[in-house]
Parts: sequence; structure tokens; C-alpha cells
Amino acid sequence: MKLLLVFLHALSSSAWSLGSSFHAVNERVFDWPSAWSEFSSTSEVSFFDGRDDREALAYGMRMHGRAPRHNAHRHEICEFRLSNMLNISNNILLLALVALSVIASLASDQSPLQDFCVAEKTSPVVVNGLACKDPKLVQADDFFFSGLETAGNTSNPFGSKVTPVTAAQVPGLNTLGIALARVDYEPWGINPPHTHPRASEILAVLEGSLQVGFVTSNPENLHITKVLQKGDVFVFPIGLVHYQRNVGTTKAVAIAALSSQNPGVITIANAVFGSKPEIASDILVKAFQVNKDVVDYIKTKF
Ligand code: MN
Repeated sequence: MKLLLVFLHALSSSAWSLGSSFHAVNERVFDWPSAWSEFSSTSEVSFFDGRDDREALAYGMRMHGRAPRHNAHRHEICEFRLSNMLNISNNILLLALVALSVIASLASDQSPLQDFCVAEKTSPVVVNGLACKDPKLVQADDFFFSGLETAGNTSNPFGSKVTPVTAAQVPGLNTLGIALARVDYEPWGINPPHTHPRASEILAVLEGSLQVGFVTSNPENLHITKVLQKGDVFVFPIGLVHYQRNVGTTKAVAIAALSSQNPGVITIANAVFGSKPEIASDILVKAFQVNKDVVDYIKTKF
């Protein structure tokens, strides 16, 4: 992760220097109306009269999505345009890289700066994570959880139950970037498609057989799936939609470890069809390309 950040910062710096090398060219005076005349209507050409180049550029990108085409007799104009484009694209690139650096550094939990920061749940201090309890008051029980030997109650429409062990259950997990869960499955029970916005997941099958899968992002949407037996382990990369299904005739049990103290769970169906307030049905009709009856019916389930 740190290597990646160093790499991104290096890229950002080179984007800056590339950008500044074009500043001199940008000082040139040029003629926007003739630059746009190759594809502009007369009214558009007159639009550019008296406008500065940034306004004209913004207009051109908005209306035509591009700059004037390069040709020999407009060399100067195109050079200006190109340099402007490069500057703008460099600035966008820089912003994207900075944003990516931030995202990358937040993709899993931050490294701790002390031995521990046991969560002080009653603290009024609002921080990224939870405020630290006075280290002198910390006890063994702050790092302790009991009960994962007990199966979760799978009497629900999905036939599965997740028992989480995150910073919410174990205050000592605060700032440590790790969590655990036990998952129980009835025969043919499913842990429905969901994602963890802050964690990758590694799942070990303790009992039974599970079909597991995740789907890569657009445009491939590649479905990676496998049937696991007792003792098998499978990884779900951070952010990707994944699921499990018990394909055996007996109950199945798995333990999942996650790379965040608070991985978060976004269950696709609940988020899309069960949000409060709800997402307008006509949006979902178009998004899923089905009739409104279908959307309204699914909404009643979540
Ligand atoms: Mn999961």
C-alpha cells in the first residue's frame, strides 16, 4: 500500500511539471471564432466573439465534446488548444491521482500509531473510528468475545445467519483493521449478494459445502465461482459483490476474516429495494428493465 502511495505521489508530481511546461504556450493570442468555424454554426461562431479562451473552451467541450481538429494552417491555434487540453487533463489527472491516493489510503483501515486504542463508546469525541479509552483502564475483556461456538439462528428467508465480531462487539479491535464473522447456513441457504465497502474477506469452511462467488466490476462483470468443501478457503476482494450458498445436505459453517474493524455490509437487494426513503420505482423500472409491478413487488420484500 505504501509503495502504491509513493508511486501515485510521484505520478502526481510529474503531472504537475508536465502541466507547467505548457504555460508559456498558453500566453499566445489566437482566434477562437476561426478555430471553431470548421464545425460551428454561424451563431456559434459569433458566440465566441469577445469571449476569453477558457469560456470558449468550456463551451466547445460542452457542446461538441472536443477541440478544433488539427490542421496545418491552424497550427498555432491547435497548439494552443492542445496545450490547454494538456493542462486541463493534467489538472484532472492530478486531482484523480490525489483522490485515488486518499481512496487508496482509506481502502483498508489506517495503521495504528500506538499499541492499542480500545474504543471508548461513550466518548462524545467524533473521530474516524472510535475514540480511545484511557489505556490505564483497559482490561482483558476489552479484547475478548465469547460465543462463536454457537450457531446463528438461520430461520429467515435466506436460511443463513452472520454473527459479526467487529469493533462494535470487541472494543479492542478499534484502529486494528481486522474483524471476524461466523456464518451459518441451512441446506440451500444463501448469504445473499453483498459487498463490504471497507474490507477484503477471506472465508474458511469449517463444516459442509459452499458454492461461493464474486463478480468483477464493469464492463467485464466476470463471475468467479467455486464449490468449497470443509477446510477450503476463498477470498472476496474488497468492494466486489459476493455471495455463498450451502450446496450440501447438512448445515454449513464458515468463519470469515475481514480487513477492517468495521467492514460494513451493503446487501444489494436491501440497498436498492429497501432503502428509506425508497428509491422511486420508475428509476428502478428503468435500471432493471422490468415492469413497475415487479419493482413494487420486490420492494414489499425489503
Ligand atoms: Mn461477505
